[in-house]
Amino acid sequence: MALQRCGPDETALTIDDSTIAGAEACLIARRLGHEVTLFLNPHQIITQTPYFFTILNLAIDQLAERARRTNPKVSWRAPQYVALRQQARSRLISLADGARDSELRRSLSAWDLEMPRAAPEHHPIDLSMLTKLVAAGVQIGNHGWSHIDIASLSEDSLCDDITRARQWLRDATGQAVDAYAVPFGLATPPAAVLQQLNGPCLLVDASRPVGELAPGLINRTDITDGIQEWAPSIYPGDPRRRCLFRHAGRRTTLSVILGAIAIGLVLTLLTLLWKAWLDGR
Ligand SMILES: [Zn+2]
Repeated sequence: MALQRCGPDETALTIDDSTIAGAEACLIARRLGHEVTLFLNPHQIITQTPYFFTILNLAIDQLAERARRTNPKVSWRAPQYVALRQQARSRLISLADGARDSELRRSLSAWDLEMPRAAPEHHPIDLSMLTKLVAAGVQIGNHGWSHIDIASLSEDSLCDDITRARQWLRDATGQAVDAYAVPFGLATPPAAVLQQLNGPCLLVDASRPVGELAPGLINRTDITDGIQEWAPSIYPGDPRRRCLFRHAGRRTTLSVILGAIAIGLVLTLLTLLWKAWLDGR
């Protein structure tokens, strides 16, 4: 199905990650009558461990806060913290669960920080919330086992990651879980992996066109221009806060409601084509 054939009624709402914020956004969507798909990582649900990028963001915020005590001009957006965040993130992003947890703890120790406490909206959902979501009519999708960067996986390991997550989610929800959203949304699975998927594979890559890039491979809208224009009205006087509406937020202290709304809007509002793709099968 080509992008041009999608009308306004063929937009689809998708939300990624196993967080309370994402789940609340789905429930809001359902209350408003929208179809919505929530792409989940079983590892976070099973272990009840916040995402490493959430912990990392909080840790870098704490480093900046510590520096601010002696120099009030220091900002969490200062280049040294942006660089530190990127360096640590690229170290952690490709590690498997156990190695990633160890490396994260090693970094916290090196920075002389305790394990940061994630805000409630950033905590993983539990099984009772998963049941609630399914009962509310939320479609569940596959976001891989533990949100690893798939570019670091061999073809076999990627297949195992997708299959393991799909089976767990299917058993936990009773739904067929055929749609797959690539963790971090950038890397394209090898063609052989794409062929083995029973549903669409979704990206969120601002550097590529929105729509169907190849059969079954669909690039979603991270955020629409309309939402970008709307964002400053929420934060009058501080247009820089528009950055809050970007994927994988750079700030970590949103309230539950703002977190739910932001993630719901940021990650997905007006995700194009998935429904169209299904309709065209
Ligand atoms: Zn994600």
